[in-house]
Amino acid sequence: MELPAKDVCYRALECRDARFDGLIFVGIKSTGVYCRPVCPARTPKFQNCFFYASAAAAQDAGYRPCLRCRPETAPDLASWHGTSSTVSRALALIAEGALDHDRATVEDLATRLGMGERQLRRLFLRHLGASPISVAQTRRVLFAKQLLHDTRMPMASVAAASGFGSVRRFNEVFRNLYQRPPVALRRSVSSDAPTPTAEGVTLLLRYKPPYDWDSILRFFAQRAVPGVEVVEDGKYFRTVEINGQTGSIEVSHDARHEGIRVRILFPNVRAFPTIAARVRRQFDTGADIRTIEAHLSGDPLLAPLVARYLGLRAPGGWDGFELAVRAVLGQQISVVAARKLAAALVARYGRPVRKNYISHPDLHRVFPAAKNLARAAAIDLPIPAARLAALKAVAEASAADPNLFRSTGSIDAAIQRLKHIRGIGEWSAQYIALRAIREMDAFPATDVGLLRGAAALDPHMATSPNLLLQRAEAWRPWRAYAAQHLWSVAPNTAPAQNRRSTKSQSLTTKKDRVMDLVYKLMPSPVGELKLIASQTGITAILWENDPPRRVRLENMVRDDRNPMLLEAERQLREYFAGKRQSFSLPLDPRGTTFQKSVWTALLAIPFGETRTYGELARQLGTPTASRAVGAANGRNPLSIVVPCHRVIGSTGKLTGFAGGLDAKAYLLRLEASS
Ligand SMILES: [Zn+2]
Repeated sequence: MELPAKDVCYRALECRDARFDGLIFVGIKSTGVYCRPVCPARTPKFQNCFFYASAAAAQDAGYRPCLRCRPETAPDLASWHGTSSTVSRALALIAEGALDHDRATVEDLATRLGMGERQLRRLFLRHLGASPISVAQTRRVLFAKQLLHDTRMPMASVAAASGFGSVRRFNEVFRNLYQRPPVALRRSVSSDAPTPTAEGVTLLLRYKPPYDWDSILRFFAQRAVPGVEVVEDGKYFRTVEINGQTGSIEVSHDARHEGIRVRILFPNVRAFPTIAARVRRQFDTGADIRTIEAHLSGDPLLAPLVARYLGLRAPGGWDGFELAVRAVLGQQISVVAARKLAAALVARYGRPVRKNYISHPDLHRVFPAAKNLARAAAIDLPIPAARLAALKAVAEASAADPNLFRSTGSIDAAIQRLKHIRGIGEWSAQYIALRAIREMDAFPATDVGLLRGAAALDPHMATSPNLLLQRAEAWRPWRAYAAQHLWSVAPNTAPAQNRRSTKSQSLTTKKDRVMDLVYKLMPSPVGELKLIASQTGITAILWENDPPRRVRLENMVRDDRNPMLLEAERQLREYFAGKRQSFSLPLDPRGTTFQKSVWTALLAIPFGETRTYGELARQLGTPTASRAVGAANGRNPLSIVVPCHRVIGSTGKLTGFAGGLDAKAYLLRLEASS
C-alpha cells in the first residue's frame, strides 16, 4: 500500500487506531524506536514521527523495535500490501522461506514472479519502502523475537528456527538491533513451564478483527479427512509433513488477543516459519477484512450477507497438492463421499506420523506426497477410470514442478497452468487457485453452489454463469470473498454449506462470545444512542442515560465502520425522518428464553399502535404474568427497533421507560403523525 499522508498517519497514531495496525509503522526520532500505531506509550510530537509502510523500512532507517508494542506481534498483512499483487505474491514466497537459504537470491525470486530483479526491487521500494532482502531479514529477526518472548525454546533452537546461520550471527544481530543480548528479551516464565519437546511450541498469529472463527472451523470440520484432520472442542488438529519429516499442529482461537494460536509438534525447528506461514494462509489471517467488506457492501446484493457474516474468511488449503487431489476426488460427488475417498487414499498411501509428535490421538498419517502417488503403478481407489487418470496426472505434474501450486505470475497464468493437467477443467482450476494458490480474485463461476446462492438473492442470475461473471466484475479484486458469501446462502450445495442446521452446535466457548461486541454512537432527536453489534446481529440499542445495570454487556470496542452498525444507523435515521415504519436488521439480543419471547411479541405490535402489559401477557399465553412481562419489557435491549415504547399502562398512561418518558412520548407522537 502507498503510505497515507503524514497527518492521516499521525491521527491514527494519536487515537491508536487498530485499523492501521500492520499497515503502518512509526519511527520516533527522539528515542530511536519504531512502534505499531496502537503502541500504549505516550504519543510523540508530530515532528518526531516518521511513518513507514513496513517494519523492514523502519529498521532500514535505523530504528529498533519497541519493547512495549512489540512490532513482531502486529497482524501480518503480508498478502495485503494493497494494490500490487506482485508484492503480495513475493511476500507470500518470502514468508515461506524463499530468501532464507544460502543460495537464494532476489534474482531467483524475481524470475519465479516472471519479472526482472530491478523491477521487483522497485516495486518493493514503492510499496514497502524496503528491499526484498531487508524484508526477509526483518521477518527473521521479528520471528526470533516472538519465539524468545513466547516460548522456552533454547537459544540455539530459536536461532535455527528463525533462519539464522549460526548462534553467533543471531547474537550479533540482536545486540545491534535491540542493544542487548537475546537472553535479555526473554519474558520471565515460571521455571515449571512445559519443555518444548513434550508440549510443542505455541505461537500466536494475529489477525485484524473481525474474524468469523465459527464459520471457518465449521468449514474445516465438514471436510476433515479422517486420520489427517480432526475438529474437536473448537480446535483444529492436523498432521503435517515438511521436507520429508512428519509432525502435527493444533490450532485454536484466541479472541482476546485477536489471533489464532498454533501449537506445533515437529522434530525440526527450522520448519516453524513454514508451518506458521501455512497456518496463516489456511486460516486467512492476513486479510484486511474491513476493507474487503466495505468494498463488497457497495453491491446491494452482497451488503446484507456481509453484514450478517462479519469477518467471514476465505479458507485456504494446507497444501496445494493435497487440495488439488481433494478437488479431483470431489468432482460430482458429495462432500461426505469425497471425505471417505480421501480417507481411503490416506490409509493406503500416507506415511504414519512420528510418535511423540501427535497433537490428537485420532491423527495417524500424513496426506500422501505427490511423488508417492506419481510412482504408484496403479492407484487403488473405487473411482471411475477417468478420475483415476486425473489423479495420477495431478500427482505427476506436482512432482515434476514444485511451484505448480505457488503464486507466481498472474492469476490467468496460474489458471492456464492448471488447466494443462488432464482432468482439470475451468471449475477445478479456479477452485484450486482460490484455495491453494490463494488468488483472492479467483471465482469458479460455473459452480452450482455459487449459482444457486446468487439465484437466491436475485432470480435473474440463475440463468447463466456469464451473468454472474458480469455482476462479479464489481467485486474485483476480492471475488473469492464474494464467492464465500454466496456459498453461505446456498446450503447443501457447496463448500461453505449448511450453516443453518449446524447453528445450534456451537463451536466457540461462551468466553469467545462475550468478547465480540462492537459499538457506535449516533445522535438522534431523543439523545445520543449507543448501537451495539455482535458478529451475528444487533445486540443492543441503548439510550444516552440508560441505567448502567439495565442491560449488561461487557468488553466492547468502538467501531465506527462496522457495516451492520452503519446499516442500523441508516435505518434509524430513516425512522426518525418519518420514512420508515419497520426495521430489517439481523438481531442478536442477549437474554433468557422468557425475555426473548416477550421481545419477539413486541416486534409484532404494528407501527403507530399501542398495547397494554395485560394484552401482551394474554398474547403470550400467560395472562397472569403481566408483571413479569412488564419486567422483561423493561429489560428490552433493542430500544426503538423492538418497540417497547408501544406498550402502555392499562389506564393509557405512559409507564416507566428506560429512555425517559419524554423520549417515549416523542416516539409515539412521531409514529402517530407519520
Ligand atoms: Zn511502541
